[in-house]
Amino acid sequence: MHVTGYRCTHCKREYAYSEDMLTCEHCGDLGILDILFDYTAIKKEFTRETLASDRTNSIWRYRALLPVEGHNWEQFLRVGWTPLYRSHALERSLGLKALYIKDDGLNPTASLKDRASVVAVSRARELGYKTIACSSTGNAASSLAGNASRMGLKSVIFVPERAPKGKVAQLLIFGANVISVQGNYRQTFELSAAAIEKWGFYNRNAGINPIMAEGKKTAALEIAEQLCFNPTDWVAVSVGDGCTIGGIYNGFNDLYKLGLLERIPKLLGVQSSGCAPFVKAANNNGKLEPAEENTLADSIAVGVPRNVEKALRAVRESFGAWVEVSDEAILSAMRTLGSTEGIFGEPAGVAATAGVVEALSKGLIKQNESVTVLCTGSGLKDVSNAMLAAGEPFSCPPDLHALEKSGRIGK
Ligand SMILES: [Zn+2]
Repeated sequence: MHVTGYRCTHCKREYAYSEDMLTCEHCGDLGILDILFDYTAIKKEFTRETLASDRTNSIWRYRALLPVEGHNWEQFLRVGWTPLYRSHALERSLGLKALYIKDDGLNPTASLKDRASVVAVSRARELGYKTIACSSTGNAASSLAGNASRMGLKSVIFVPERAPKGKVAQLLIFGANVISVQGNYRQTFELSAAAIEKWGFYNRNAGINPIMAEGKKTAALEIAEQLCFNPTDWVAVSVGDGCTIGGIYNGFNDLYKLGLLERIPKLLGVQSSGCAPFVKAANNNGKLEPAEENTLADSIAVGVPRNVEKALRAVRESFGAWVEVSDEAILSAMRTLGSTEGIFGEPAGVAATAGVVEALSKGLIKQNESVTVLCTGSGLKDVSNAMLAAGEPFSCPPDLHALEKSGRIGK
């Protein structure tokens, strides 16, 4: 493991590496930590050549850059190395130079969160924990439950009662102890934090545990490698808690520091208008106020995000931008990705695509630029919103004449 220590994102104090440290001793929960790596040592074993000869088709091809020992990684669910599709149809209709879609709904539990969960499960085992816990709007929870189940750890999961049934069903099938909290995500998070402290579980809460963003950064490492280390001008990411976009920045930043990238792509942070605390903070000198959670994109409905500095930094230091999109635009993006590319994303999963449309209309993304959108989760997790986007099928009696008469099938 090439971890050298931690730096607080809030007060910038540095700490030596210690196994149990989660947040800054001075700043408490505000002091989300960055993990520091020994890039000189990593450079010796992690190069374009070593990657080219590595046949590992999961996040473990980047184990030199992960804050875990990675023992027995072959036994874990296969997470990562998801496809990056070029969308000729959408780049034509939007007037972009190139548009790629990274479909992270194809991870084992059908969301990008598997990248963090598998690293968390690996770490929990290394530290000797038997039970791992988190609060989640749904995907992190089902992801943790699945990855823990595979590796023989128990999971205790806190979800807000609004979590879609598909995600709750996954949790129960994976054998998690599911606590459905009668409240919003903030209350769910607070109950989970209190329970974790009381019972001493390993804490997978993405806002708190700094290794989560490091797991998620593997999506950026893959995008870079899949584009032969010449990434698109922009990478668009939907944002809830801020951990994912923070991780994406870390991934590109790692490669930049290792001399494998000449530039870091501009990051487009996309939120739903019904819950856009980061967009408002970016327009308010970085001061984040709690927001309502009023959007059908449940995975990014986080009114009180925890990874504030990591997310704001990701956009600021990559010279990116923030945009918000309506629920209608999200449903429209869902239809567009499904009907033109065969990709079925959940509302939060397709929000980044809606964000690109918005950023183009505002002139933030220029028409001669190239973009990668990250699709963070599968639409099968939230079928009721998918039906809202797609509408109902044509109902027909079992009779050919009736079908013909309906005019439903054209020539
Ligand atoms: Zn601090």
